[in-house]
Amino acid sequence: MTGRVIKSTGSWYIVEDETETRYECRIKGKIRMKGLRTTNPVAVGDLVEFEKEPDQPTAVISKVNERFNYILRKSINQSHEVQILASNMDQAILLVTLAQPRTSLGFIDRYLVSAEAFHVPVTLLFNKFDLYSEENLESVREIEQIYIKLGYPVLEVSVLENSGMDDLNATLSNKISLISGHSGVGKSTLINQLIPGLELRTSEISDASEKGIHTTTFAEMFKFPSGGFIIDTPGIRELGIIGIEKEELGHYFREMKALMPKCRFHNCHHMHEPGCAIVEAVETGDIEASRYDTYCSIYLNRDTRV
Ligand code: GDP
Ligand code: ZN
Repeated sequence: MTGRVIKSTGSWYIVEDETETRYECRIKGKIRMKGLRTTNPVAVGDLVEFEKEPDQPTAVISKVNERFNYILRKSINQSHEVQILASNMDQAILLVTLAQPRTSLGFIDRYLVSAEAFHVPVTLLFNKFDLYSEENLESVREIEQIYIKLGYPVLEVSVLENSGMDDLNATLSNKISLISGHSGVGKSTLINQLIPGLELRTSEISDASEKGIHTTTFAEMFKFPSGGFIIDTPGIRELGIIGIEKEELGHYFREMKALMPKCRFHNCHHMHEPGCAIVEAVETGDIEASRYDTYCSIYLNRDTRV
C-alpha cells in the first residue's frame, strides 16, 4: 500500500492512505536514501510503501518514495548529521510581523535563501495588521515592495481580527503548506483559526511550562478543511542554511542570480572585486541594501560549506 506520513515520533509514524485511513507504522530493517545521510530515515510528508502486519493493527514501512523536495536542520546531537523536517511540500508560508515582535529583514532573507535552495516556493504572510497606524503602514508597504519586486507573493492579515483570511484560505486550499515564523508572530493562533478544533498551544501558555526542556520536535501535518494539509514544525522557526557552498550562495538571491553573468570575473564573490555587477546594483539601488547585507553576513559567517 502507498500512503503519506503525517506524523512522526521518531520511532512510530502515522501513515494515511488514499482512503484517509490511518495506520500506526514502524520501520523494519534499514531504509536507505541515495546520497543523504540523515538521522531520521522517514519524515513527515514522505510517500511510503507499507504493509499491514499479520494479526495486528499496525503496519511496517518498507520503502520511502523519492522526495521532490525536503527541508533539513542540523541534528541536535550529532552535528555532522542532518534531520529531515518535512518533505514533498507545495509551498511555505512565512509569517512576518513588523511590530510585537518585529521580524528582521535578515531573518526573512535567510528563510528565503534556504527555501530557494530546498526548492520550496514561499508566500510572505504579514500579520497583525490591526497594530499598524497610518504611519506604520507606509513602512510596512515599503518592506512588502522589496519582496513583491522579487516575485514573492505577499498577503496581509490580522489573525486577531480575522481579516484578510479569504486570500489566505485560497492560497492554502488543496496544497501542502509548511507554516513558519519567528516566535510570537501568531503562528499557533493562525493554525488554530485555520483548523477549528485543533487547539495548538499558543506561546503565552507554553512558554513557562516548556522552559528548560529540550525535546526533539517533529513536524506534524494537519488536514486543511478545504483540502490539502498544513505542516507545523513546533519550536523550529528557521530553515537551516545547510549544504550551500559559498560560491553558490548568490544563486539563492533571485535578483543577484539574474545579474551575476554581468560581473567581470566569472568566479566573482560579489564582495570587493572590481567590475562586480552586484555591488554596482546595490550602489544604484537596483538591489536592496538590506538584501545585500544579508548576503554578506551569510557569506562572511560561513565556512566553505555548512
Ligand atoms: P507563535 O509564537 O507564532 O505561535 O505566536 P502565538 O500564536 O502564540 O501568538 C503570539 C501573540 O500574538 C498572542 O498573544 C496572540 O494573541 C497575538 N496575536 C496573534 N495574531 C495577532 C494579530 O493579528 N494581531 C495582534 N494584535 N495580535 C496577534
Ligand atoms: Zn560580482
